[in-house]
Amino acid sequence: MTLPAAPPPRTRARYALCPLCGRAVPLAARERYCPNDGRALLRGCPGCGAPLRTPYARFCTGCGAALLDTAPQGKAGTHWRSPQGREAG
Ligand SMILES: [Zn+2]
Ligand SMILES: [Zn+2]
Repeated sequence: MTLPAAPPPRTRARYALCPLCGRAVPLAARERYCPNDGRALLRGCPGCGAPLRTPYARFCTGCGAALLDTAPQGKAGTHWRSPQGREAG
């Protein structure tokens, strides 16, 4: 008796990543939404569509775009300060 040959684990594994909490699951899990916060999982880079090859991805390896949703929200009194260069006038 021989066990059926299992595919080697070093296949082209791809992951889905929650942009909110950073939870990553393999695409094989077929999870589409994060169980933690209900956000739609990223199945690839939102910028260039490159697949996520590692569950620890925080930035796209193809275009460098941030994968996590780090936009500030609900922070009263905090505004983005645009770097305004003082021009001599
Ligand atoms: Zn999440
Ligand atoms: Zn990208």
